[in-house]
Amino acid sequence: MNATSDFRFDGRVAIVTGAGRGLGRAHARLLAERGAKVVVNDLGGTKEGDGSDTGPANDVVAEITGAGGVAIADTHNVGEEEGCKALVADTVGAFGRVDIVVNNAGISRFATFPEADAENLERTLDVHLRGTWHTTRAAWPHMVEQGYGRVITTTSTGMFGLPDNLAYATAKGALIGFTRSLAQAAAPHGILVNCIAPNAITRPSTSAGKPNITTQQLDAARQEAMRTDLVSPMVAYLAHEDCQVNGDILVAGARRFARWFLGVTPGYQSDAVGVPTVEEIAKHWDEITDRPGYHVPENLHAWAAHFMGHLAG
Ligand code: NAD
Repeated sequence: MNATSDFRFDGRVAIVTGAGRGLGRAHARLLAERGAKVVVNDLGGTKEGDGSDTGPANDVVAEITGAGGVAIADTHNVGEEEGCKALVADTVGAFGRVDIVVNNAGISRFATFPEADAENLERTLDVHLRGTWHTTRAAWPHMVEQGYGRVITTTSTGMFGLPDNLAYATAKGALIGFTRSLAQAAAPHGILVNCIAPNAITRPSTSAGKPNITTQQLDAARQEAMRTDLVSPMVAYLAHEDCQVNGDILVAGARRFARWFLGVTPGYQSDAVGVPTVEEIAKHWDEITDRPGYHVPENLHAWAAHFMGHLAG
């Protein structure tokens, strides 16, 4: 396939978690429109993750099949390991394989310290982190056997600092470590793992720190500019066999697409005899934190070779 060809997914089977609404719905529709057989997973609860409803998953399947695509609904809870295993088993049972996993399901339980309690943390980690872990792990043997797979995780620019949704930002941060590390383990098997940081107006966005704002009250032009389907082309690209990107974080929304990277400043290197003092750290703070010349390591080994380069030889 060359750059001018259509990026198609004929013969591919995709799981999209949390695909009954919002971004997942847009991802599922695009993959199905381009030929993938799609499993539309959605528990159908509130944005805080309470309750369940089979309606959202079934509605999206009806949209896809009504447009000539192939999709089935799945309403397992990805916040439970058994649910993740059943989702993958049912996918393989229905379509014989699983090529793509888009880990998108998410909940949002706004709270900061000290209100953000253990339950808030666990419920949030269950869906975002453990859901991604268990679903990907259940799909793993199938992808390894095929020698092919594409895994997409979903982080958030909340990682830049979201004090009123602490557990959410914590879970999303963990997914970056998961993505970058699994990517290294995945590559020898023909599996690529990347992370999307989406930006669109959906249910959770309407209550971001402003519980009384409704979708109707948001500026219509802004809603149009931040439609969910403006994120999905990046997800579909990362899900495609032509994509060779691995372990990266891509930001997408409002028609803008960018790479989000982790970098390390050149820093300060002490030539003091013995152990550098605390005072030396304080004195050289500007050098330690100065950004020009930063390094963007591909993995731990690249970081170590660069950071400890002065020890070589
Ligand atoms: P949304 O609430 O519209 O959709 C999330 C869907 O996930 C819902 O339909 C919900 O029923 C489903 N879900 C929740 N828990 C589930 C579970 N345990 N099992 C199965 N399905 C479950 O929200 P959205 O904005 O479309 O969010 C999608 C993803 O994108 C989330 O991971 C979210 O954190 C992330 N995200 C969104 C934005 C944004 O701008 N909207 C920004 C950063 C990250």
